[in-house]
Amino acid sequence: MRQIIAGNWKMFGRLAEIPAYAEAIRSAPAHVDLLICPPFTLLDRFATALKGSPIALGGQNCHAAAQGAHTGDIAAPMLAETGATYVILGHSERRENHGETNAEIYAKAETAMAAGLIPIICVGETEMQRDAGEAEHVVRSQLSHSLPPRFAGIVAYEPVWAIGTGRTPTESEVAAMHATIRAALVAQLGAGGSAINILYGGSVKPGNAAALLALPEVGGALVGGASLKAADLLAIAVAAPGG
Ligand code: PEP
Repeated sequence: MRQIIAGNWKMFGRLAEIPAYAEAIRSAPAHVDLLICPPFTLLDRFATALKGSPIALGGQNCHAAAQGAHTGDIAAPMLAETGATYVILGHSERRENHGETNAEIYAKAETAMAAGLIPIICVGETEMQRDAGEAEHVVRSQLSHSLPPRFAGIVAYEPVWAIGTGRTPTESEVAAMHATIRAALVAQLGAGGSAINILYGGSVKPGNAAALLALPEVGGALVGGASLKAADLLAIAVAAPGG
């Protein structure tokens, strides 16, 4: 399985940064699939800057409806029109700041797939849940309630307490959770569940990427802060196995 390295720019980045960044990431190694998820306003310009390269684009969210009276929201077909082929759904910042529920994420995933987008569904426990020994239960429950039965996409395991903090779980904790997620995906989706890339996300940096990406059932990384620097994202891509 080819690894996927996805950069999540969150609410960072301006138009003026795109030409130099896009030029730099064009030299990404060929053994990984690279994907950038910038703010909506940058997608179109990114699509132009990356024309002819294999680097893909994604949104960071979409509405559960394909269109409608939803001021301030973006619909999946609109994302697809910009050239985006992926969309991140259920990021913990959206679950926390916007109260997104598993049911909404499920509905968004269906709409995204109908628009031809590949959803990247984020799951992960809070620090309190991990300390209480509930991490695996929480993640299994998020998977069973937010993935539609015909899910064809990607899952990102992102422990909430590791996002943007510089802290990561131990390698054995990451491997254990990825094994749990794989078993849950196969139980839920049948054979299709074994073909899904399971990304690790949470403070992935050039210095820890090789160790994290080499763990069993880790199929790539969802990278926040470090993706803002092209050189760091490229170093993470180079560190992925298979090169
Ligand atoms: C994220 O936002 O998905 C993320 C993993 O952020 P960071 O890499 O900054 O922890």
